[in-house]
Amino acid sequence: MECIFCKIVAGTIPANIIHCDDKVVVFDDIYPKAPQHKLIIPRKHIATLNDITIEDSDLISHMLFTAKKLAHDLNIAKPGYRVMINCNKGGGQEVFHLHLHLLSGFLPK
Ligand code: AMP
Ligand code: ZN
Repeated sequence: MECIFCKIVAGTIPANIIHCDDKVVVFDDIYPKAPQHKLIIPRKHIATLNDITIEDSDLISHMLFTAKKLAHDLNIAKPGYRVMINCNKGGGQEVFHLHLHLLSGFLPK
């Protein structure tokens, strides 16, 4: 198993896991790009957003609802947050296991 996020799901490499359930694992991004930066990943290995199928609909929906719930629990729902999925190298993807970035705490311009 080469995938670093599969290793986090399996518990063979450490991460600061803040939430997990039967479908997703959520942990702090190791190089945060904002004061709050979490990654929501499916337990199932899916390389990129290009690889999702209609069978993954519930999973993708669950990832978004997890972002919404976490935003509430982290008290960032009202001030605001960003969710982001990078797809392939041209989209800035570096880890080829689907993940949703949850970022918050940007300073107003
Ligand atoms: P992306 O560029 O969308 O593929 O995002 C990958 C993200 O994973 C980056 O923001 C990295 O900082 C983060 N990352 C890489 N390795 C780890 C790790 N071992 N634990 C936590 N976050 C990681
Ligand atoms: Zn993986």
